[in-house]
Amino acid sequence: PSVLRPVAIETPSVTWDQIGGLETIKSILQESVEGALLYPELYRLMRAISPRGILLWGPPGTGKTLLAKAVAAQARANFIAVNGAELLSRWVGASEQAVRDLFTRARQAAPCVIFIDEIDTFVPVRGGYDSDSGVSARVVGQLLTEIDGIQSCDNVLIIAATNRPDMLDPALLRAGRLDLQLKVDLPDLTSRLEILQVHNRDRPLAEDVNLAAWAVRTEGWNGAELALLSNQATLQAIRRYRVQGFTNPTVASIIAADFETAYQSLLER
Ligand code: ATP
Repeated sequence: PSVLRPVAIETPSVTWDQIGGLETIKSILQESVEGALLYPELYRLMRAISPRGILLWGPPGTGKTLLAKAVAAQARANFIAVNGAELLSRWVGASEQAVRDLFTRARQAAPCVIFIDEIDTFVPVRGGYDSDSGVSARVVGQLLTEIDGIQSCDNVLIIAATNRPDMLDPALLRAGRLDLQLKVDLPDLTSRLEILQVHNRDRPLAEDVNLAAWAVRTEGWNGAELALLSNQATLQAIRRYRVQGFTNPTVASIIAADFETAYQSLLER
């Protein structure tokens, strides 16, 4: 039994249509799910090589975690999320044990997706780490060993995320490890509209709300910020509804002015 906090196992329900934009990445991931989690036997017999590790890289708030969860949901797989900084335990030796435990748990919970967020803090470029490089070299070694040890019949897929791919030990990106690297970029105009539509799909928007115009006005925003704008507008609508003393929630709706107020308050932050 491990002395470490046990990892939490989730079963995400994120569907692909909850993710706006990122069409190419979504279809590449859908195929990877098949190879690693759904039909590994078919792939093995056909001598098809499917990635067992995927690196999602790009600016924050662009949907990397969401994509990893959609992969797990599509395969009805379990999902274990860990954070690179969290894995780098303060106790010497405990990090290696944490890595071993993580992979053991994932095999037991197969089919399973292991999601390692901020993997750059965990697997820094050799020599680029300013604290005890001996410890970090050993945990990196342990992680590489565990990844190399995954068999296709294990039904385990590793997905890692980083904002700083240049900070990663290149050994991690070699064939058979995180050898599928996908850039998750900031959304363009069309993708921003899709993300806004996703987040407002089930909300009562008034006729005067023009999401296409908001997609234009939010150039440079990431998905997380677009989700925030949508929610802030909704909260503003509720405030307005309460102030006006309405009593029938089925008539509540989000109007253009609510988006405007939310937008201004986000700009002031
Ligand atoms: P970080 O690098 O900060 O961990 P991330 O890239 O993993 O960020 P997520 O955690 O996936 O980003 O996104 C945060 C939230 O932003 C999501 O829960 C979702 O509400 C929203 N979001 C981000 N990208 C998208 C997208 N493409 N479509 C819909 N919602 C999105």
